[in-house]
Amino acid sequence: MAVSVHDESAIKALLSELGEKPFRYAQISQAVYKDAVPDIDSITTISKELREKLKPEVFFFTLKLRSEETSDNGQTTKFLFETHDGKLIESVIMRHLSGRNTLCVSCQAGCPMGCSFCATGKLGLFRNLTFAEILEQFDFVAKRLAKEDRKIRNVVFMGMGEPFLNYENLKTAIDVLCNQKKYDISNRRVTVSTCGIVPGIDRFAVDFPQTSLAISLHAPNDETRKSIMPVENTYPLSDLMAALDRYVEKTNKRVFYEYIMISGVTDHPRFAPELAELLRGRLAHVNFIPYNPGEGIMGNGMLPTSKLLIKKFQDALEKADVPSTVRHTMGDDIDAACGQLAMKEKGESLATESGKSISSAFSKKAE
Ligand code: SAH
Ligand code: SF4
Repeated sequence: MAVSVHDESAIKALLSELGEKPFRYAQISQAVYKDAVPDIDSITTISKELREKLKPEVFFFTLKLRSEETSDNGQTTKFLFETHDGKLIESVIMRHLSGRNTLCVSCQAGCPMGCSFCATGKLGLFRNLTFAEILEQFDFVAKRLAKEDRKIRNVVFMGMGEPFLNYENLKTAIDVLCNQKKYDISNRRVTVSTCGIVPGIDRFAVDFPQTSLAISLHAPNDETRKSIMPVENTYPLSDLMAALDRYVEKTNKRVFYEYIMISGVTDHPRFAPELAELLRGRLAHVNFIPYNPGEGIMGNGMLPTSKLLIKKFQDALEKADVPSTVRHTMGDDIDAACGQLAMKEKGESLATESGKSISSAFSKKAE
C-alpha cells in the first residue's frame, strides 16, 4: 500500500528497503516542506532512478477539491474537500486585515458529540481523518495562498470534529506542522479546540505544553451545559475545570474559553455573574461567539443573542478581571464562521450523494 509523503517513518523505512542512505529523507523533506514541490517527479535533488522507485509507493494528495466559496469581502474562503472514500470535509482560510492568515482545519468527517447548536454534530461521526488528510488541508491552502503572496500563520482545529477523539492523528499532524524542518508553524500559533474531553486535555498538557488550548464551554453550569452539550454527561463541568486547573499548573498557559451566545439558552442575565465566578482567579480568556444559525441546524429554534447582552457578560467578566473578546465572525455570508462549517443539506445526503446537493450548496464551483 502506498504511503503518504507526510509519513516520515514509513518513508524512511521505504528508503532503507531500497538501500538508500538515511540523508535521502532530509532531501525529500526539504523538497516537500521548504520547496513546496507538488509531486515526486519534482524532487530533482534525488536521482531519477530513485524517483521512479518512489513514485508508485508515495502519494502527496488524496483529497479532492469539490468546491470553494469566498465571502463577499474576499477575506474568507471555504474549501470543501472529498476524501478518497467519498466523505466531505471543510477547511476555512481567514485573511485578517492585519495581514495574518488563519487556517481552520477539520480533524474528523462529522462528529459524534452531538452538540445541539452545531451543524457538524447533526451529521454524527463518519470517521476520523488520518494525519495525512489533516496535513493535506494545510498543504493545499498553503499552496493556494502562496499564489496570493500570503502565508498561513495560525492553524486552529475548529473545523469539523472533536480533536481529542482523534488524538494520535492530531498529535502527528501538529508535530509535522510545528517541526522547524517541515511547515515550521509556531506551536503557540496552533490552537486545538475541544468540547471538554478530559483525558485528552491531560495528554495535551504533557505532549504540547506550548500549543494553545480552547475549550467550548458555552454555559457556566451543569444544567445548561447538559441541555446543549451531551459531553457534559461524561465529563461534568467540575471534572472539566479540575482538568483545566491541572493544565494551567503544568503549562502556565492561558486557556481560551469559547462561549456561544444563544438567545434564551446561554445568555440568561444570571449567567453573566455565574460565568465570572467560575473563571475568577483562573488563567482565562473568553471568546463570545454569537450563535450562527446556519443551514443544517435551522429549525432547532435557536437564535443569536443581541449585542447588548453580550456586553453585559463582558462587563461582568471585566469586574472579575477575566479578559474577553467578542469573536468577529468572518465569513458569515458563506456559513464559514470558523467552527460553523455548516451543511446546507442534510448530513446524510451530503456524505453519500454525488454532486447534486453540493452544486446547490455552493455557488462557485471548484476550478
Ligand atoms: N469539536 C471542537 C472543535 C470544533 S467546533 C469543539 O467543539 O470545540 C469549533 C467551535 O465552533 C466550537 O467552540 C463550537 O462550539 C463552535 N460552534 C459550533 N456550532 C456553532 C454555531 N452554530 N454557532 C457558533 N459557534 C458554533
Ligand atoms: Fe462536535 Fe464541536 Fe460540533 Fe460539538 S461543537 S458537535 S464537539 S464539532
